[in-house]
Amino acid sequence: MEDPSTLDKQVVNLYGLWRVDKKVIDRLVELIHRVAPIAIRRVGGTIKIMDFCGTHEHSIVWNGIRSLMPEGVELVAGPGCPVCITPAYYVDIAIKFALEGIRVYTYGDAYRLPGSGRPFGDKGRPRSLEEARALGGDVVVVYSFMDAVKHAKRDGKESVFLAVGFETTAPAVAAPLVNGVVPENLTIINVHRLTPPILRYTFERHRNAPIRGVIAPGHVSAVIGAKAWEFVPREYGVPTVVAGFEAHDILLAIFHILAMLAEGRPRLINEYKRVVRWEGNTVAQRYINECCEVTDAAWRGLGFVPQSGLAFRDKYRRYDAMYQYGIKELTPEEWSYDLPPGCRCAEVTLGLAKPTDCPLFMKVCTPGTPYGPCMVSIEGTCSVWARFGGGGLADEIARELGLA
Ligand code: SF4
Repeated sequence: MEDPSTLDKQVVNLYGLWRVDKKVIDRLVELIHRVAPIAIRRVGGTIKIMDFCGTHEHSIVWNGIRSLMPEGVELVAGPGCPVCITPAYYVDIAIKFALEGIRVYTYGDAYRLPGSGRPFGDKGRPRSLEEARALGGDVVVVYSFMDAVKHAKRDGKESVFLAVGFETTAPAVAAPLVNGVVPENLTIINVHRLTPPILRYTFERHRNAPIRGVIAPGHVSAVIGAKAWEFVPREYGVPTVVAGFEAHDILLAIFHILAMLAEGRPRLINEYKRVVRWEGNTVAQRYINECCEVTDAAWRGLGFVPQSGLAFRDKYRRYDAMYQYGIKELTPEEWSYDLPPGCRCAEVTLGLAKPTDCPLFMKVCTPGTPYGPCMVSIEGTCSVWARFGGGGLADEIARELGLA
């Protein structure tokens, strides 16, 4: 049995680590407050910094980082939640498959993602794979594509995998395909999307209130490399920092951005060197390039974004569910606005609105009953704010309860 006195020591050690961490945090916050007024003067107004990635937004809200910002520095969430931007069209197709007896494998966070609610052109049909399963549809939630591969091999059933994600999840689908381990009875609805093109698109939409700094995504950059964001300071003059997900990573990124603005020298900094290399993961990149080519692709609520999707190359077409089942790919002409009425996810995704700007937030739309796509995944901005009190929501509730 473990000696209780050693447990005490472990607790003391943990406390020590926390103390060190707190000192680091305090120092970073102090530095941010010192450099911010110089940066604000130089820029001539409020500094809007975009945290691109849903996990960054999660960490910012979870750690209360917005409350540590000086006046004139605003953190806005970006388009970094792959579930939020998956077009309703593909969710509807997956629901249709499930109800027709074709097994649909899905990640857990796409399971509750609402489609258009009209997979057969009717109203009142299931809105999500979860609802389809409740109506007898064949839906299996998996942790990974390889889980789906194993299941499909074992069961031999006609099945499809709803492949939602960014550059981070694409290699997990591409590698088994290239290595020839995917069985013939499993095809894929390929909804992978690429992140640098959507950042370009986001910049275009922020012309009136420009983004002055970008916290670039850590996970995605581990695959595509820090170099993928070089275009941001070069073409847009916007300081960019690839950052990790701890509170001190994010604070350090904010400090670097403000310091670059104060100096008037925008560049790219890789703060997350412990994980992200300049070139990225070249093996993962090779897998993606081997089986997919870059194509224009639809983003939910936004429409087509040039060169922002992945399509299977001819050699791998037999694994393309759309091709195999003769379903038309979405085209710019056919795409129609695919958010439910009143939902402001498109603006939330681009950092043009906060979840609390949506009249449905925490009224019609809650994490328990998501009405719009940004309320589904733990990376969705509305979901993060709803669960952890983003945008001062926690302070408001504390005030209402007489705790602040
Ligand atoms: S609160 Fe719900 S309805 Fe409103 S923008 Fe967010 S996801 Fe859409």
